[in-house]
Amino acid sequence: MNDCLFCKIIAGEIPSTKVYEDELCYAFYDIAPMAPKHFLVVPKKHLSSASEITEKDAAVVGHIFAVIAKLTKELDFDGFRVVTNCGEIAGQTVQHLHFHVLGGKPLGAFN
Ligand code: AMP
Ligand code: ZN
Repeated sequence: MNDCLFCKIIAGEIPSTKVYEDELCYAFYDIAPMAPKHFLVVPKKHLSSASEITEKDAAVVGHIFAVIAKLTKELDFDGFRVVTNCGEIAGQTVQHLHFHVLGGKPLGAFN
């Protein structure tokens, strides 16, 4: 995607603080953290949101969750929350599928 912020981050055209990278996904710290520990994991393939996921993306989505399990152990998360906002009403501001990984403090109930 030509004009996608996260595609540009994946390509290294916009700087980010990388947490992890492999052939399928890229993880980096959120620029405006909502919790003491907050990183994002994105598929390298551009999908605009969770509503664009189909069965053919099952492997990459499953892989991302395995990566999250690995990284949260390595980064000493004591529990965590995974969030993906889909659509404007849910607060999605970047139109490239991303999973927020939040932790480092007690996370209250969400609405
Ligand atoms: P969402 O609002 O769910 O679409 O999440 C987008 C997230 O991307 C927000 O938490 C932003 O703080 C984060 N973000 C925006 N620009 C950057 C950037 N250049 N580097 C890292 N995170 C970013
Ligand atoms: Zn993109």
